[in-house]
Amino acid sequence: MNIDKNHIWHPYAKIPNKVPTYHVESADGVYLSLKNGNRVIDGMSSWWSMIHGYNNSFINNAMKKQIDSVSHVMFGGLTHQPAIELCEKLIKITPQGLDKVFFADSGSVSVEVSLKMALQYWQNNGQKNKTHFITPRGGYHGDTFGAMSVCDPKKGMHHLFNSVLAKNYFVTQPKTGNTVQALADFEKRLETSHSKIAAMILEPIVQGAGGMNIYDPKYLKGVRSLCDKFDVLLIVDEIATGFGRTGELFGCNHANISPDILCIGKALTGGYMTMAAAITNSKISDTVGVLMHGPTFMANPLSCSAANASIELLLKSNWQKRIGDIQSQLINELEPLKDEKSVYDVRVIGAIGVVELKEPLDMQISQEQLIKCGVWLRPYGKLLYTMPPFIINDKELSKITYAMKEVVINQ
Ligand SMILES: *Cc1c(COP(=O)(O)O)cnc(C)c1O
Repeated sequence: MNIDKNHIWHPYAKIPNKVPTYHVESADGVYLSLKNGNRVIDGMSSWWSMIHGYNNSFINNAMKKQIDSVSHVMFGGLTHQPAIELCEKLIKITPQGLDKVFFADSGSVSVEVSLKMALQYWQNNGQKNKTHFITPRGGYHGDTFGAMSVCDPKKGMHHLFNSVLAKNYFVTQPKTGNTVQALADFEKRLETSHSKIAAMILEPIVQGAGGMNIYDPKYLKGVRSLCDKFDVLLIVDEIATGFGRTGELFGCNHANISPDILCIGKALTGGYMTMAAAITNSKISDTVGVLMHGPTFMANPLSCSAANASIELLLKSNWQKRIGDIQSQLINELEPLKDEKSVYDVRVIGAIGVVELKEPLDMQISQEQLIKCGVWLRPYGKLLYTMPPFIINDKELSKITYAMKEVVINQ
């Protein structure tokens, strides 16, 4: 594996890579088969995306059929059935009013597009000073420049790129128990600066990569009404939370709100292809006019076919019951860890289970322990967490929580 170690960049890694990478030979259902002979349960769903597991024959067949028809075609001046069908499906399932779809090729790009939509909206609305964004601390929205500028200023990459990142406003992070203070801080900032602010951007209910923080739907509801009061758009980033993960189809549904712009990605194609979207309402699209964005692989037909198949599978499954059951099991099996002296907090919502430790974990050592237990997780800092594929069975899920327990106990 010298080529991998010495010539390929992995996420947030250096070359030569100092931490081991495990070679995947194939994957099926919830299992990854590693070249070293181990077969491990993917408790990460390949970063929130493989909700139906690997090698699903329904999605595979839809994609094979699409390959024999057309795998890719430019979207400038051309269109195709897979995109039209996906657009119809998304309008139907996303929160009310969202019916103008921009297909992007990755989550970060859909965030860039949503920021552009907001900026162009105010430009054309005669409020040219509304060029900044506001966001709660602890957020994560991707690695491109616009997205980085709204990531948590401490945990994000602001210190590296400070001189080129756009300056935005950061407000109190919502946490269980501080909803009132967090909303008060947001309101105070809007009172003084709303004339410079184009949009609020946040992850609904669960802040993902910025710290796996779960917060009260009341915050989301409060944010929606304050945005309306101060004439600030609301961008909701559901790239991690979308498609059932939190127990509702979208995180917004917990608070019964609709954003002005919605970002989706990750599980959109069931993890089978790279694809994302920024979806808005006609109030925004009418004012924006010509939207200045157009990626080469926009609305890739093969990606659309995977997304269509994945959404069809999800909707015809009993996903809400399954995720409720996963949630109960995660609560039952992880909450007892609260009594361990190395544990700071245990948090569960939907098919997301988080154990926050008091001290950072050694990723390499804990990963070896986890693999010995037959489980693939990627601990990060003080966080040991799982967001398993929805198709996982009770026994497999217990294997994950048992492995988490082993890591915690051997801390
Ligand atoms: C992963 C993620 C992104 C970025 O998506 P990419 O496909 O990695 O560019 C943005 N926002 C949230 C909430 C995410 O979880």
